[in-house]
Amino acid sequence: MLEVDQLIELEIRAREELERLREEARKDEADPAAVAVDVAIGRLSRLDSMQMEEVRKDACRRRNERIHLLQQAVNNMDEGSYGQCGGCGEWIAYKRLEQSPEATLCGSCAR
Ligand SMILES: [Zn+2]
Repeated sequence: MLEVDQLIELEIRAREELERLREEARKDEADPAAVAVDVAIGRLSRLDSMQMEEVRKDACRRRNERIHLLQQAVNNMDEGSYGQCGGCGEWIAYKRLEQSPEATLCGSCAR
């Protein structure tokens, strides 16, 4: 079971991380790296630019996934159901949540 001050600490972390990722996503949309890829096309082969685009898309996908998970974590915090393992129902260790506040599985279930 998490202490109240641990929960507060984790909520601050989750919200900060969420804010940071959303800001990053906003910048990406406003000034897509895809534009840079087109500009660089003279120097890069088409294959290279396609690979770069894939890398960018992949990073974008992972970011969106994390935003989704963090948002869920914050929702769970509001509802008071945060910190319980989705696999076994045990409490997830604070150390683990400290590293990734969006974790939904305890250390053993994640393995
Ligand atoms: Zn578990």
